Amino acid sequence: MFASIAKPFVTRTAFAATRVGGKKHFSSSSAARISLALTPEQLELQELSRSFTAKEIIPKAAHHDRTGEYPVEILKKMWDVGLLNTHIPAEYGGLGLGVLDCAIISEELSYGCSGIQTAAEANGLAQAPVILGASDALKKKYLGRMTEEPLMCAYGVTEPIAGSDVAGIATKAEKKGNSWVLNGQKMWITNGGKANWYFVLAKTDASAKPGKAFTGFIVDGNSAGISVGKKEINMGQRCSDTRGISFEDVVVSDENRIGDVGKGFQLAMGAFDITRPLVASAAVGLARRAYDEALKYALERKTMGKPIAEHQAIAFMLADMAIGVEAARGLVYKTSWQIDNGERNTLVASMAKAYASEVANKNAADAVQIFGGNGFNSEYPVEKLMRDAKIFMIYEGTSQIQRLIISRSLIDAAKKGN
Ligand SMILES: Cc1cc2nc3c(=O)[nH]c(=O)nc-3n(C[C@H](O)[C@H](O)[C@H](O)COP(=O)(O)OP(=O)(O)OC[C@H]3O[C@@H](n4cnc5c(N)ncnc54)[C@H](O)[C@@H]3O)c2cc1C
Repeated sequence: MFASIAKPFVTRTAFAATRVGGKKHFSSSSAARISLALTPEQLELQELSRSFTAKEIIPKAAHHDRTGEYPVEILKKMWDVGLLNTHIPAEYGGLGLGVLDCAIISEELSYGCSGIQTAAEANGLAQAPVILGASDALKKKYLGRMTEEPLMCAYGVTEPIAGSDVAGIATKAEKKGNSWVLNGQKMWITNGGKANWYFVLAKTDASAKPGKAFTGFIVDGNSAGISVGKKEINMGQRCSDTRGISFEDVVVSDENRIGDVGKGFQLAMGAFDITRPLVASAAVGLARRAYDEALKYALERKTMGKPIAEHQAIAFMLADMAIGVEAARGLVYKTSWQIDNGERNTLVASMAKAYASEVANKNAADAVQIFGGNGFNSEYPVEKLMRDAKIFMIYEGTSQIQRLIISRSLIDAAKKGN
């Protein structure tokens, strides 16, 4: 069934990591060009992701939504064809794709099922602080193994007491000899029950300001003292594995510290410059799916003697849905281009995340409306989209937090006369 997609389809030379200004960046060989057109390699990547989605995700999405079953077989196939862990640098055995390349993949996978895409992308989120700040030895050990077998990992920052307020997290790490002892509780951790290792942000200096109080660690999933909570039953993206994780006297070698002591907050937040464009592109994928489903239905369903697409009220809804997809994708491509080319992308990443997640919610709700009574029923694909869309406005920084970042950035710039 899947013979047409050869492994590895994505060649390492076409998507090698590049260095801009002496720093390593996720970048495809042709990302430096200023163009709104995708490169031939990116078009190939899009086609690979699109055909994978059509063959492997869409036919199984309703099953995974209904049962909440983790899509382990689909993730294995994704790994086989080179669509998982796509930004691991080439020197650690990965493809080292640029953020724009990864955004193209995210949009396509999420078009099929954003729950399955989230399970895949949670690997990228956990790997991002490691890529940004870990020693070469740690990268070889923990990123390298992801390229050797289809493993999952997880990003552990949020706690029951603090999500938006990252500075308020309480999990602590205390130095004992050449190790650290971790105690605390994380919540809402995607891939929490499937992770081979966790990125964990912990407080290492209770009296310091956030910029110096936290340190990032890699914690092996099988470490003594880790308890994995029950799978949370969420409104949408139901096959994605979300859990609470407790750490009780978990001993972590100092070798597993990521970067300098006290620099964890910067790593945990810096990861979002890479991953928010990808969450936004996944929201674009869902928004596009809602539009496609609504358009198809509106051309088939007739009322008052004509297809509902020919009633202006419906036609204008479709027009607005298409505008949303294009505009949100434009923001995704811009912020991805910025980081791939060594520019600061935090502001536009927040714009893309806030806007695309709201377009996804609007398009999904409009698709349900266009389907009428059928839209409210689980035999049709759009009610799932509406449930799945909501989380885009919450994880990786809520829409309110994105607006906080955007408004602070604009006001700071205005005060500096920029
Ligand atoms: C399905 C799912 C998967 C997740 N995956 C992960 C994961 O893999 N790893 C991880 O670490 N976390 C994960 N999260 C956690 C997620 O990032 C947080 O839920 C999110 O950041 C919001 O935090 P909170 O839930 O504590 O809400 P709160 O921070 O309590 O916010 C509650 C409300 O108040 C608003 N608010 C808060 N502060 C402000 C402010 N200063 N100004 C204006 N409004 C404000 C928020 O926007 C929100 O509307 C996941 C969550 C879910 C539900």
